[in-house]
Amino acid sequence: MTSPYTGAVIGHVPLSTPTEVNAAVQAAAAAFPAWRRTPIKERSLPLFKFRELMLGRLDELAHLAAAEAGKTVAEARAGALKGLEVVEFALSLQNLDQGGALEVSRGVTCQVAREPLGVVAAVAPFNFPAMVPLWMFPIAVTLGNCFILKPSEKVPLTSQLMGELMVQAGYPAGVFSVVNGNAETVNALIDAPGVRAVGFVGSTPAARAVYTRATSQGKRALALGGAKNHLIVVPDADPQVTVRGVVDSFTGCAGQRCMAASLLVAVGAVEPLLAQITEAAAATTLGEGMGAIIDRPALERIRGLITSATAEGAKLRLDGRDQAPPLGYEQGHWLAPTILEAASPEMECAQTEIFGPVLTIVRVKTLSEALALDSRNAFGNATSVFTTSGAVARQVADSATCGMVGVNIGVPVPREPFSFGGTKESKFGQGDITGRASLDFWSNLKKITTKWAVQPDHNWMS
Ligand code: NAD
Repeated sequence: MTSPYTGAVIGHVPLSTPTEVNAAVQAAAAAFPAWRRTPIKERSLPLFKFRELMLGRLDELAHLAAAEAGKTVAEARAGALKGLEVVEFALSLQNLDQGGALEVSRGVTCQVAREPLGVVAAVAPFNFPAMVPLWMFPIAVTLGNCFILKPSEKVPLTSQLMGELMVQAGYPAGVFSVVNGNAETVNALIDAPGVRAVGFVGSTPAARAVYTRATSQGKRALALGGAKNHLIVVPDADPQVTVRGVVDSFTGCAGQRCMAASLLVAVGAVEPLLAQITEAAAATTLGEGMGAIIDRPALERIRGLITSATAEGAKLRLDGRDQAPPLGYEQGHWLAPTILEAASPEMECAQTEIFGPVLTIVRVKTLSEALALDSRNAFGNATSVFTTSGAVARQVADSATCGMVGVNIGVPVPREPFSFGGTKESKFGQGDITGRASLDFWSNLKKITTKWAVQPDHNWMS
């Protein structure tokens, strides 16, 4: 794989062959009977150790994730720490998810027990090399599943390191494995007879393909896709909170995150705010202030979308294409923050996920118009509103058609134990990928009904 910062090759990871994928599934299947019989308190012990090991090597991990994904080290560290919150949530399952039992009629007790599915697989995107895998495997493994991770072929090194830490943490062989590869590898995993469920995070076309392929074989799938997040700015918005919130949201991770601001819906007279947003975005420096785009094709695609938007009539308020790369990193894939003002909300730049540091502005007169745009958004990850009015905030929270709403927050990622997941084209399948909502995805509920007849008294000494 290559470094987004320099374009240079920074490592080689062999693609797992079909035989190796099969061997990982076999190893997981062999480990499952003992792992599922291990009590949850005991299954949680290696996860405590894994957390400790991750914290001990956080710097190394953050540098590795930054190097392969093009993030700043601070962003990579924040992503890993966010993933560790899911580890902590998984560690609480032993106390949180106790099942239940009730005497439902005389002598008859109903009990519910959570059971693992068996061998499960997960597929991750490039943009959060540590966090997205951590959304899935700590919970799935703690619930008693044996887990096979297929990281993005663009960022396999962080998963490799987490795999080593899982081994050091003491997980039995086969409980957690990493296979490398591309769509073909994903399909081999989905089709493997032993695999019972597939968690997926990536672009919408791939999410839809994975969901369809898995569910058509009767397998469980939860596939998170892309996004086009709207930020609604109304005239009473607090300037400081809004400017920082909007700029950080669309420039953080160089715009390569599924919760990034993508469309700014300017309601009414907010020109002074737009001017300040443009000014603050223009001050972002490449390198230290903002990372790089993952690879050359992604950069070309983003630049192409900017060019076609202007050809279609969008106005460029800020053009990031000409900012010089940081010194010594001229061969990397760079684009500074760019702000387009669309001529209409139907334009491609207002509808498509650009997945780069590009913010498109559309203007509307009323909040109702802004909410109508939200309801027409094909995607459903996040919608945020910047306002000092509780009534406006409430109206947006009530009406938004997405899964995650922000009020004066540019990146409204729910923290654990609240779950992460969108709606519409941003998610295929039931439940969410983290939090309590993920438990039903990675497990089954077994209901046990027991009846003991009242025994006649018996003298055991006779
Ligand atoms: P991608 O879809 O290209 O790849 C994601 C993973 O899927 C990779 O491991 C890849 O090998 C595999 N893959 C690619 N095409 C496939 C196919 N046709 N069939 C099966 N597997 C396939 O996505 P990416 O470029 O790595 O990541 C960026 C995308 O992920 C963006 O669209 C972003 O919004 C989305 N994303 C979504 C979330 C979310 O929570 N909704 C989180 C992070 C990223």
